[in-house]
Amino acid sequence: MNIKHILAVVAFITLIVGGPAYVLFVKEPPKQQQTTTDTKTEQKKVITEQPKEPAFDKTKYSYDDPTSIWVVSNKQRPLNPKNYAPSDLVSVGGGQQLRKEAADNLSKLLAGAKTAGLTMSPLSGYRSYNTQVTVYGNEVKANGQAVADSQSARPGYSEHQTGLAIDVGGGGCGIEDCFGDTAAGKWLAANAHAYGFIIRYPEGKQDVTGYRYEPWHIRYIGTDLAAEMHKKGALTLEEFFGLPAAPSY
Ligand SMILES: [Zn+2]
Repeated sequence: MNIKHILAVVAFITLIVGGPAYVLFVKEPPKQQQTTTDTKTEQKKVITEQPKEPAFDKTKYSYDDPTSIWVVSNKQRPLNPKNYAPSDLVSVGGGQQLRKEAADNLSKLLAGAKTAGLTMSPLSGYRSYNTQVTVYGNEVKANGQAVADSQSARPGYSEHQTGLAIDVGGGGCGIEDCFGDTAAGKWLAANAHAYGFIIRYPEGKQDVTGYRYEPWHIRYIGTDLAAEMHKKGALTLEEFFGLPAAPSY
């Protein structure tokens, strides 16, 4: 809207509100003051609503760099290097670690849950490349590679290795499907974005993320991106950034 439009709108509002104001002034002088104030408020509103919100900058951070809070890792996008390890890990309790920024926001999230009368615990946060070698190796030994690939990540591909993802539990459910049906799980799904987290493997998105629904696995992406995804109704990082779906290795 250019200045001519603004002036036209202001003039129009003045005309519409000013007309009745004149009538009110003639009939009931005390109400005239009130009407004038309304007119000013209306004019102010028209002017303050002018600046357009800048478009969200999807290139602000890298989704390739493993040190970036926006890094996208999936079965087609290993971390580079595959043995990447974050340099700013801190404890989040429960013997678990996350990168500092993610840890600070997780503690706010847990406090928010507590305020809502819910208990949530950090169960599995950062996992090193070597830990993942063991976890994945054990899964292959126990159930074969096909099952291992569907249920755990190959070393270098796990989001847990970024130090930005953590599995939480509560309401009597740990890293289990039932967590999604608990009050804690429902609160998490509804509120994680306010603390900069997303449910990274949402229901019905296995063809995109490569993982079945994991209501317990949250990923820190920062409050700006989490708010934008929430606003746009984007459920996965792949879809938000226009990256290829990664259903399998
Ligand atoms: Zn997880």
